[in-house]
Parts: sequence; C-alpha cells; structure tokens
Amino acid sequence: MKRAHDLTSSGEMVFVDSTFSCDPDNHSITFMLCPCSAGAVPVAIIITKEQTEESYRKGFELLNEALVKPFNGKGHPAIFMTDDSEAEIKALRNVWPASRNLLSIFHVSQVVWRWLWDLKHEIPKEHRSMLMVIFQRILHASAVQKAEEAYKNSSGYVGFYLPTYENWNEYLDSYWKRKELWCLAFRNENVRGHNINNFSEVCVRILKDHVLCRVKAYNVLTLLDFVLTHLEKHYTKKLRDFANSRSASSRLFMLSLKKKTSAITKDAIKMQYDGTFLVRSDANLYNVDAKNGCCSCSVGLYGRFCKHQYSIYSHFDVKSCNFPPILPRDKYEMSILALGEKSPHKEFFEPLISEISPTCRIQEMPPTTSDEIFPIAQEHGDNGMNEGYEEKRNRFLRDIFSEISHKHETYKSSLSALNKFLK
Ligand SMILES: [Zn+2]
Repeated sequence: MKRAHDLTSSGEMVFVDSTFSCDPDNHSITFMLCPCSAGAVPVAIIITKEQTEESYRKGFELLNEALVKPFNGKGHPAIFMTDDSEAEIKALRNVWPASRNLLSIFHVSQVVWRWLWDLKHEIPKEHRSMLMVIFQRILHASAVQKAEEAYKNSSGYVGFYLPTYENWNEYLDSYWKRKELWCLAFRNENVRGHNINNFSEVCVRILKDHVLCRVKAYNVLTLLDFVLTHLEKHYTKKLRDFANSRSASSRLFMLSLKKKTSAITKDAIKMQYDGTFLVRSDANLYNVDAKNGCCSCSVGLYGRFCKHQYSIYSHFDVKSCNFPPILPRDKYEMSILALGEKSPHKEFFEPLISEISPTCRIQEMPPTTSDEIFPIAQEHGDNGMNEGYEEKRNRFLRDIFSEISHKHETYKSSLSALNKFLK
C-alpha cells in the first residue's frame, strides 16, 4: 500500500468507498484505491467503528500522519471519486480541501431510480421511466450549455407529455445545485474514462468473497489480520500475474481496436500545426489530442483510449499518456509495486525479439512536452539502454553457442532440447 503512493495515478485520482458487516461489531472498512496498469490497488484501508464524518476524518488524518508526502508526493490526489455519502465527502473535503470531489454516475442514477419507485413520492408507474430519461439527458449532456438546456426543458414539453410533479421538480432542483459533482458535461479527460466507482465495488467483493469467503471475521483484530495478510497476498499475486504477462486483457483490447481501425488509412489522418490530429472515420471528423490523451468522440472525450488514438499510433507511431499498459515499463512498474526491491531488473521484462514487437518501435511520449509528439523514427536507435540490451543478448548467445560447440561431447543430450527450442 505504501508503494502504491509512488504511482503517478495516485496523485491524479483516488476511489473511495466503504463497506461493513465484515465482523460481529459491524466495523466499517473504507478502501482508498488508485488506478494502475493491472486495475486498481489500495493506497489505504481504514477500519472505523462507525460511518460518521468524525470517524472518516480521523482515519484520513492517520494516513496523512503515516506518510510524509502521500499521493505521489503531491499530498492529495486531484480527484476523489465516491458514492453519494455525505459523511465521507465532508471528511474528504475537511482533510484534503484542494482535491475535487466527483460522484459515481452509476450510483447517482441508482438513487434517482429508487426515488422514482418509492411509493411515498406518488409518481405514477407509467411516468417513472420518462422522468428517468429526462434525468439521464442532463447527466449525459456532452457540454455545459446542453446540460443547462436539458435542465430548463425538464419541466416543459420534452418530446412526450408529462404532468408537473412538484416533489420531482424540487428533487431535481436539489440535484442540479450540485451539478458539478455528477453531470458529465463538467468533466474532462482528467478522469481518464472513469465515471463510476467500479474499482471500489470490485475491491469490496474481493474482500467478502475471496478473503473472508462470505463469513464474518471473529473480531476486528482478525479482520485487520485478514486485510494485512490475505488481501495483501491477493494483490501481490494479481500484480505479479500482470508483470509476468499472464493477463491478456490489454493485449486483447489492442487487438479489438486494430480490427476496428482497419478501415482508417493514413490518408484519412491529418496532422495539425499544433500537434493534434484530424481523423476521418465513418464519415465523421474527429479531433485527437494525443498529447493529453483525448479525442472528440464519445469514448475519448473523457480520456479513454479510443480507436482514433489507435489509428494515430499505428500510422504515426505516436502514443499518448492513456496508452494501454502493454509496454515493458508497465510490467516493471507492477513488479516493483508487488515485490519492491526483490523485483527482477527492468531488462527482465523486455521482449525477447525486439525487432518484431510493435511496442518497441515507439518511444514513450511525456505528457507535458509538446515538441515530441511527431514521429519518433529519428530517435530509434539512439537509445543507449536498448543498444546495451541488444549487445548483451548477442554476447550471451555467442557464449552459449561456443560453450555447446566446444564441449559437444559433454552436451550430447542437449540435441533434443535444442530441436524443441528451434521448433
Ligand atoms: Zn476517438
């Protein structure tokens, strides 16, 4: 957990969620997670007696006291993503006032849906889903102006007839006052495509299903022990599996993008003077900012890697900061996170045949510099580390060859093994 604070993403976005019913005294466990190449890892786990603002605040302050500069040396992440828990949000604002709070849109929609179906609000059944459509239009508006228009039109004619419900209008109004927290129009590529708190949901499920096996811990001390041993082991294994290429999800994601972009030719892409690209796809024109990892399409708008960014990577060898984690440095980073000083050296994660691997043809582009966005072919070969690696590999191969050829009497039995290797 301490090493997770060295990840760049821990200074960008942290997901916070709580659960209880894990021991007879119903202590509350709060997970603070940051996204990484292998999914998400905890930066802190806080066990409190109850879910009050005071308990949360004390827990968060403990984290500040335990580490000198948490969250990648920044002291606080740029964004906290939470459910609509008032106590949790107030405590976060109290301890880290400079961070921005965002709500998981999945939970917001769920809460509104439950309100509509609550009998005491007396909304007729046939109108509930229509009112939900109105709310979704505001929620998913792509620009602030569109969101405001959707809100203004919510009580008028919206394509279908709806009577006015005063309690619904008041409820919607109370949500609109906090629009910056949940309305997508107020978000940008900084959220890296994360609009829901799914990482926290997964973490809670791992704890209850895999660590506690759906049984309550004997008491809070046992619970602490489970968190520090079994949960830690689970994450170590997960990170090591990723580092050792046993997780295929990123590779399969790239393959699916490759199929989707087969129709986009190099002629359909134009590089602009400011380093952005115009990509013509499906009769539409998309603006891709590879430096900041965003695109004008619905997927890339919130910072996710989209097919238009892939087409720029495949034709121009340019990759952005949200490039899927398939590079050796991503594996090395996860190995360091899992094993610390015991991790194998960076070279261990390099591909065996670097000429064939497409990922070796590209250089890593720092997100803050603007003049390195152009094709990097001229830089290829200048990298001293790569050259050293090649030379070292060739030297090892020569040594192996001379060893076998000079002592062929000793290594007679190696023939079948060499045949297998060649195959
Ligand atoms: Zn796109």
